[in-house]
Amino acid sequence: MATFDYAPAPESPAIVDIQPSYGLYIGGEMVDPIDGSRFKTVNPATEEVLSEVAAAGPTDVDRALAAARAAYDGTWSRLSGRDRGKYLYRLARLVQERARELAVLESIDNGKPIRESRDVDVPLVAAHFFYYAGWADKLGYAGFGPDPRPLGVAAQVIPWNFPLLMLAWKIAPALACGNTVVLKPAETTPLSALAFADICRQADLPPGVVNIITGAGDTGRALVEHPGVDKVAFTGSTEVGRQIARSVAGTRKKTTLELGGKAANVVFDDAPLDQAVEGIVNGIFFNQGHVCCAGSRLLVQESVADELLDRLKRRLGTLRLGDPLDKNTDIGAINSAEQLDKIRMLSEVGESEGAERWSPPCDLPDRGFWFPPTVFTGVAQSHRIAREEIFGPVLSVLTFRTPAEAIDKANNTPYGLSAGVWTDKGSRILWMAQKLRAGVVWANTFNRFDPASPFGGYKESGFGREGGRHGLAGYLDV
Ligand code: NAD
Repeated sequence: MATFDYAPAPESPAIVDIQPSYGLYIGGEMVDPIDGSRFKTVNPATEEVLSEVAAAGPTDVDRALAAARAAYDGTWSRLSGRDRGKYLYRLARLVQERARELAVLESIDNGKPIRESRDVDVPLVAAHFFYYAGWADKLGYAGFGPDPRPLGVAAQVIPWNFPLLMLAWKIAPALACGNTVVLKPAETTPLSALAFADICRQADLPPGVVNIITGAGDTGRALVEHPGVDKVAFTGSTEVGRQIARSVAGTRKKTTLELGGKAANVVFDDAPLDQAVEGIVNGIFFNQGHVCCAGSRLLVQESVADELLDRLKRRLGTLRLGDPLDKNTDIGAINSAEQLDKIRMLSEVGESEGAERWSPPCDLPDRGFWFPPTVFTGVAQSHRIAREEIFGPVLSVLTFRTPAEAIDKANNTPYGLSAGVWTDKGSRILWMAQKLRAGVVWANTFNRFDPASPFGGYKESGFGREGGRHGLAGYLDV
């Protein structure tokens, strides 16, 4: 039989200029950390060390917050919305101009396929800045009174799965509303945030309006617990979200938490099955499943379960895993050895609890952190793989007979970030959307994002909304 394969189509890394070491971006310049410690960031696809970045200590956090306060009092809160908007438009345009460089850098530091960083992450980053640039001079029409005021200085802590996109979700609305920020990227993916620091410099943003400090959990804790903070915005795990909620309780700090998820993707027997298969693949294998709103639980109506699973398995056999910089790659590297251990551990638990494990034939590269696309069938609601967030390319499949059973099973989770519904019937979509306890419900699609659309959770997935008009409320004194 003739075989057909793709020739390698690697994107060149020559466009990025990664420095051997980085300082902290405070008050408009790169400065050395005062406590002096540094750590390495690696390429998860090769384990090669990319650079050394600074671990900001408490004195650095003090410095960054002082710079943000001075910029708030001295310039940013005094600018008109129109002038703030001009800066945001400039940031958006610079992101577009440097899009290719940012996409390559993100793929190198995070492990995600270039197709995603190029076609999803970076365009959405620019779209976010454009969108909130448009709000900056129209806050009086946003439904929060004629002249809503900013909060002051925002402490923002983000995870590693969408490093630059999460930065945009945090920084764009904060600046549009007139706040200044200190942002800490995740320890495994600091490089695109440091590139954004350079974009702020290029945009002539007044010094101190955006400050980027790198470091791990200790730095994040020092930042959110600091008394010089008026607003805390956190995206990350539910466990750390709980700690933060405890630390801000009883303070003046306004808080938004975007946490974990265990979304149900519900397929009814009248759904277009091939489209549903694409939606399932996009729901759980996009970004290696490192997606808080991933459709990690497939609930399929019993009468079409066998047929759907056959088609799904056939489709998974065509996914290409490997070099994130290859334009044909669908599945890139797992972001860190630690995350890979967690995915392996929970997959082993899935098998030992009695679920049946399947992966397509798939060669894994020798170096780097890799996990094949994996499907578990025969999953019971009590299994850990049905309850806990795996945050990897692992799908747990459950079945249901009636719409009421689908709702019960979908809502049987401590989380509530997102859900998907696949059916031919508009009335059923609306009925399901009303009953599902999830912040976002997609109908006949999955993992679609738009800056105009609010995003956020119910229950242990957090509180507050990011995106859209709703996203302004978290950064205004309303
Ligand atoms: P994590 O909570 O371990 O880390 C997130 C960030 O918090 C990192 O920058 C980390 O350095 C910092 N941090 C760690 N401990 C801290 C502390 N005590 N105080 C302050 N900051 C601290 O999460 P992760 O493993 O990096 O990210 C994966 C998690 O993020 C998943 O659970 C995922 O669902 C969630 N997530 C949620 C959304 C959303 O919008 N809801 C988006 C992306 C990721």
